[in-house]
Amino acid sequence: MEYRVQPEAMPVDQPREVRVTATLDQPLRAGDNIAFALPEAWSSRRCCVTFTKEPQYTDPEAPDYVAVVAEGARFELSLEKIPLASGDPQRHVRKIVAKLIEGELRAGTDVVLELRNFRSTWLAEAGVLRVWVGDDEEKHPPKLKTLAVEAERLRVIVPSSARPGAPFKVNIVSLDPFWNRSSSTYREGVLTLQGGESLEEGIGFTGSYRTRAAIAEPGVYRLRLGDELSNPIRITPAPRGPYWGDLHSHDKTHNCGAGEDPYTYARQVSGLDFLAVTPDYRGLSQAVWREHVRRCNESYEPGEFTTILGYEAGFPESHHNLYFRGAEAEIFDVADPSQRSIEKLLAQLDPDVAFAVPHHVGIDWCTQTGYRPEWDPWIPLMEIYSQHGLSEFYSPEHILSYEFNRTRGMESKYATSVNKPVYARDAWSQGRRFGVIASSDDHMAQPGKPVKGLAAVFAPENAREALFSSLKARRTYGTTGERILLDFRINGCEMGQEVFVDGSSPLKIDMEVHGTDGIAFVEVARLRFGNQTWESAFFERLRVQRLFDATSIDEDCDYAASFEERCEGDAVYYLRVGQKKQLADWPVYAWSSPIWVTKG
Ligand SMILES: [Zn+2]
Ligand SMILES: [Zn+2]
Repeated sequence: MEYRVQPEAMPVDQPREVRVTATLDQPLRAGDNIAFALPEAWSSRRCCVTFTKEPQYTDPEAPDYVAVVAEGARFELSLEKIPLASGDPQRHVRKIVAKLIEGELRAGTDVVLELRNFRSTWLAEAGVLRVWVGDDEEKHPPKLKTLAVEAERLRVIVPSSARPGAPFKVNIVSLDPFWNRSSSTYREGVLTLQGGESLEEGIGFTGSYRTRAAIAEPGVYRLRLGDELSNPIRITPAPRGPYWGDLHSHDKTHNCGAGEDPYTYARQVSGLDFLAVTPDYRGLSQAVWREHVRRCNESYEPGEFTTILGYEAGFPESHHNLYFRGAEAEIFDVADPSQRSIEKLLAQLDPDVAFAVPHHVGIDWCTQTGYRPEWDPWIPLMEIYSQHGLSEFYSPEHILSYEFNRTRGMESKYATSVNKPVYARDAWSQGRRFGVIASSDDHMAQPGKPVKGLAAVFAPENAREALFSSLKARRTYGTTGERILLDFRINGCEMGQEVFVDGSSPLKIDMEVHGTDGIAFVEVARLRFGNQTWESAFFERLRVQRLFDATSIDEDCDYAASFEERCEGDAVYYLRVGQKKQLADWPVYAWSSPIWVTKG
């Protein structure tokens, strides 16, 4: 069929009337159906398709009204759920089915889908409007195109390390209020080194701009464009990242999310180094999985942008993401629901080629079943933070707790922190040696949003093998989404590792933090085994920013300290950092992977 969409494009999040005219290429007779399904993003009220809105066809004056009309014909409308294989009752899109009950339509006749009082999605994309004639789905359906609006914020993104004198990428991106690359135009921008030398002048662009810069002398630097400061970059003869990525991102695949193209968004808008799209396995047919594998491999560009193959598995023991070393993997048997257990899944996997990461553990993690230490070889990491909230320790009053979920409205109390020993600190107390990452669990194909969680990975290069090995070896940390540089060592041994000491010599603990803004506090948390209580081994709250002293902001971005303490037995330490300013109402934090101290 041929289609005409009016308007051809529309701004995001605006009340709209939309007409899609389909010119029939076959006749429709009484009793025949023509059906439409709006792009997933048009059905979501908030952050994700867990909150869907339903079109209605009874009241043209009321919101979300749909009609299907053709001259000399009358249709009877109904709504059908396009089900998710998991049977999750909340996540779905509605198929608008129009049954011809009066008249007969010849090939060449126009049938019009009308939307009235509809608010366009807040995703800027060309979303597919699915169309069926009878049972046959159209192979070349039309798209509803939505456009970003004016910028709300600007970001200057640079790699976290580079060699002296070697050119590195500078990604300048302006974002609209919905995290789309904005429609705003900038003129005559000047890119400088923080507090000094001009790198490029006369920068003009709409939406985003990419350039390169180089810095000759080793050290930690930031770039500045107008009022905007970049993330810190370390110039060093031996760069090893950290590389930044989102390991937990959903899109429209199998009705588990909305949005068409997380890979392009990750690279061009979030400036990520790596990405794992993790479709929910409950909705994965073999065909959808093959397509997922194909897109993942097609989007991989070694050295530039690494895609990691994975999927999300929800079990009685709750949610885990699975990641694979290579370009191919099979999905777990989904045919028999009784097979759905982490135990059975792990038994099928070789821990050299796959690993699992639990997430939002404080909402639910093995609360029914208990955790089994035999699973340790498959679980090197846990996701300490995502858009759902913080999984560090039980603290329902914490500003980042699940209770204050910003994607669902502050104090929505949508999710509750369970008061059970299922958090990262509990796992460490119980002897688990998990490192940490953070990742978004974004369901709108916008991975790497600056507030929803990023994973930092130290690796010799940005490629699958290197990143996979580093993830397995816990050479990682997590942030709420800002590219904060963390260095944390005990006796020279870095985060995620184990240090052996004899009883007589003290521990030397070093930390270095380079923030994206003023640092509010730096804390080293410690657990001494046998004692089983978490305490601050080191805590410094940095002086309150002096409001009228412009230089203090920049000064407070960098922090380094060392201390010594006696080792009285086995212990575990990690570094946690908070920044002074919130970003879009979200506090900015970072958490290192722990270091385990074992007395020889
Ligand atoms: Zn999940
Ligand atoms: Zn998820």
